[in-house]
Amino acid sequence: MLKRIDLTRDYKKHEDEYLAAIKACCEETAFSGGKYADKFDKEFADFLGVKYVQGLNNGTSALHCALAALGVGEGDEVIVPANTYIASAWGVTYTGATPVFVDCTADTWEIDPDRIEEKITDKTKAIVGVHLYGQPFDFPRVKEIADKHGLYIVEDCAQAHGAKVEGKMVGTLGDIGCFSFYPGKNLYAFGEGGAVSTNNAEYDHYMNVMKNQGCEVRYYHKMIGYNYRLEGIQGAVLSVSLKYLPEWTKRRQEIGRRYMAEIKNPKFTLQAHPDNTEPVFHLFEVQVEGDPEKFLEYMKAQDIECNRHYPVPCHLQEAYADLGYHKGDCPNAERLAEHCATLPLFPEMTDEEVQRVIDAVNAY
Ligand SMILES: *Cc1c(COP(=O)(O)O)cnc(C)c1O
Repeated sequence: MLKRIDLTRDYKKHEDEYLAAIKACCEETAFSGGKYADKFDKEFADFLGVKYVQGLNNGTSALHCALAALGVGEGDEVIVPANTYIASAWGVTYTGATPVFVDCTADTWEIDPDRIEEKITDKTKAIVGVHLYGQPFDFPRVKEIADKHGLYIVEDCAQAHGAKVEGKMVGTLGDIGCFSFYPGKNLYAFGEGGAVSTNNAEYDHYMNVMKNQGCEVRYYHKMIGYNYRLEGIQGAVLSVSLKYLPEWTKRRQEIGRRYMAEIKNPKFTLQAHPDNTEPVFHLFEVQVEGDPEKFLEYMKAQDIECNRHYPVPCHLQEAYADLGYHKGDCPNAERLAEHCATLPLFPEMTDEEVQRVIDAVNAY
C-alpha cells in the first residue's frame, strides 16, 4: 500500500544523524528548552530571515502566544478562515476572544479577501490568515484591509514552512508567524513542536515569558504563564530536519506540479496557485465530484491510501455551535468540506509512485 504520507522513509535514510543528535542532547541532559532548543530557534530565524523565533511545544500554543502578545483578549473578535484546521481558531478562543469565520475563495480555497470587510466590527482586533495546504493566502490584499482598519495579522504557517509570497517567506510578512512541527508537517519533530516568529522585540519578549511559566527571572512570575517550552530533543531533531527542508520542499514542488499538469480527469477540481506565490504543497487536496469516500475506497482498491482535509469546516464544528453559524454561511468552504480528498504527497515518493497516483486518479 502506498501511504498518504510515509515518515519511515526519511527516518531510515537519516537514522544515524537523527540518533546522534538525540544522543548529544541526552548526554548534556538539555531536555527542556536549553542548548539544543535555543540553537534551533536561531537556525530557524536565519532560515526565515526574521529577527526572533521562540520554539514552543506545538503550533496550537504558537497561535495562543501570538494573539496574547498582540493584546487580544475577552470582548475582542478575530477573523479566521472557515476552511482550515480547527487549531487556527483555538488560539483565539484560548485568549477569551471570539473567532469570526470567513469563507474561502472558490478557486484558491484560501481566505477570501472580499468577504473580510463585511465581518469587521469595532471589536475586531486581528486576522489569523492561514497558508493552508502550503499555499499562501492573498497576503497583499489582506494586508491592505488590515492596515485600513488597524488590525494585526497573525500568519498560521503550520502547513507552509518556506512558502513565499512575492519572493518573501511566510512567517515574516505579518506581525507574528506561527509554525507547527507536528509529525507530517513539512518540517517536523519526533513528537510535538511549534514556533513563533517576529521582527518585533516586544512581542518576542512577551511570548518568551508566556511560554516559560510567566517568568523573566526563575521563580518570580510577572504574569499568568504557561509551560509551552520546546523540548531539547525536539530542537536537536529539528536542527537535523531543517538542513533537509530546502531539498524536501523542492521535491514536494516537483510532485505537486506534476499532479497539477497531469491530472486531467474532469471529475476533479484542483487548487489554484496564483503566480505571485510559491506554494510548498503540504497537502495535495482535490475536490472530487460525488462522494469522496467512494473515491477513497476506489484508491484503496488500487493500493493507494488517501484521506481528507477537512470534512467539517470550522464554523460548523460542534465545539463552536454556540457561535450560531449555519450551513450556507460559508458556501465555498462547505462545498470543499463535502468533496475534499487528499492524494499521497511526501518528499520520498518515487516517480513511479507519483505516476501510479496520477494514472489511478485519471482512470476514476
Ligand atoms: C497542525 C496545524 C496547527 C496546529 O499545530 P499543532 O502543532 O498540531 O498544535 C495549526 N494550524 C494549522 C493550519 C495546522 O495544520
